[in-house]
Amino acid sequence: MTSSTIAESSLTDPAVRAGLCDRLMDLRPLTDPYLAVEVARQTHQGESATVNTRLDKALAAVIRDRMLHEASGRRVPFLKTASRIVAPLAATHQLAPAEVEVLQFAVHLSFEYPGIVGSPTAPLALKSDLDPGYQPAMPLRQILESQRAAGPDGLNTSYLVSQMKGGMSVDMGIGCPLMCAYCYRREGDTVDGYLGSWKPVEFIEADEAVERLLAHPWFTPHVTPIGLHMSTSEAFIPQLWPRTLQALQRMDALGLTNRVSCITKYGLSDQQIAELEALRNVDLDINICYAAMPESVEPPNRAKRLDFLRRALQSRLNVLAYYRPIAEGLNTTDAHIRSVWHTFKKAGARVVVLGGLKFSDDHVNSFMSYGLPLPAGSFTPGKKLLTADTERRIMTIFDEVYADVPEPDRPAVLKRSSCGRVVVRGSYLPDYNAHHDQPETNCRLRCPLTQHAVCASAPTPTPELVRHLLARMQRPFTRFTIAGGAVTVHDDIDPFERTFLRQNLLYPVDTEQQAATKISHTLNLAEVAR
Ligand code: SF4
Repeated sequence: MTSSTIAESSLTDPAVRAGLCDRLMDLRPLTDPYLAVEVARQTHQGESATVNTRLDKALAAVIRDRMLHEASGRRVPFLKTASRIVAPLAATHQLAPAEVEVLQFAVHLSFEYPGIVGSPTAPLALKSDLDPGYQPAMPLRQILESQRAAGPDGLNTSYLVSQMKGGMSVDMGIGCPLMCAYCYRREGDTVDGYLGSWKPVEFIEADEAVERLLAHPWFTPHVTPIGLHMSTSEAFIPQLWPRTLQALQRMDALGLTNRVSCITKYGLSDQQIAELEALRNVDLDINICYAAMPESVEPPNRAKRLDFLRRALQSRLNVLAYYRPIAEGLNTTDAHIRSVWHTFKKAGARVVVLGGLKFSDDHVNSFMSYGLPLPAGSFTPGKKLLTADTERRIMTIFDEVYADVPEPDRPAVLKRSSCGRVVVRGSYLPDYNAHHDQPETNCRLRCPLTQHAVCASAPTPTPELVRHLLARMQRPFTRFTIAGGAVTVHDDIDPFERTFLRQNLLYPVDTEQQAATKISHTLNLAEVAR
């Protein structure tokens, strides 16, 4: 590789890139994303009609082979472009690192960046100039203040877009009519729980919800994992389904390829499934809960839900079987566990996520008032409980039930939702909550080896990327270091700020205390191994 090859591309020049982005603004939104790659290619060729470098061939291949799309016609999501487009082309054409970087820029150029964050040159940074005519739904400082006043799990019931552990929740109504006895929204363990009502209230329209998302300084187009009604209701109940679909279609029309999750105990018709399958950009997953819970505790119709699970698994959607909630004494006999695995096996589940129950003193009162037996175990406020013994029995019975299925054809079984969501998409990205920093706790069930490799080689972020994110937190002077497989933040930040950093960097982010605990844990393990 010679340096003169690199010098042929004007696209290594930041000023040329900025000019290209400006000129393409006139064409946005792009109905044909290959046009952006073609414009980049022509800029790379410059005045020369004979240029035929490796990079030119790689850019031409993106266009000729329609690599920005999957065979189904769906867009390859932004986050997967590095592993699905750029890395294979870099290997085929033996590109130098600087050429790889230009190729990635050209691919980024083909995406849309609606809202206040992101550009092809700096996908994680606040925009320096907003798009002509764009008015954010609210000033940035006001949105951050409402985020900081959110409940203990991050739920922001005033702005209705919340940074939570599972991603950013977009909520278009609060309240759920399904009346599960263990529901942790019902008795006010948040700032205002269900506002005293099981019936969904406080509706906002889908367009307004998406506008609020685009104005939120913590929302990154194509990167932020999103949940619809992650913790306020059920995305598929009839009262909310029209808004859920409209919000998804609106994001799709904006060209957003963010991962979006819907968690449900409800069901959809084949027609509704087809409407979700028709999305071309949004990268949706459906998480269907089933844990053989007695119907006195979890009323939603079991037969209908299992029928939905079976039909959804036959669709083109990303579907996770959510083995949740697992509550000691309520659904943890061997018979319960066996019945869940037989159900998942019959339905054809490919990715299963386990999860315990979150339970508080409020629930004790409600369970007793319904005459229901209490789950066993000692609960920590805000934490889900799944004991090691129950987890071990679940996996032992899994082995029995799947004994006649060849090992590679058995489902993946994960402890964390974010892990399930990367595995179901084909193991191209590290876990967005970076649980791989504690593999002995988080990775010990049945995560595929290919996914382990992806998580273990999560790219180390640059200081510049971290600074872009700190600016979005309005904490530009926060001190941090990048070392030892994590970003360590040396000033006080709250847990949801840390979540925001982690989900954008796809890399562990620790406080000093957490970093110190990890070091002593590693030293102890080394001591035991000696
Ligand atoms: S390797 Fe660990 S962190 Fe990564 S997806 Fe698997 S279980 Fe999750």
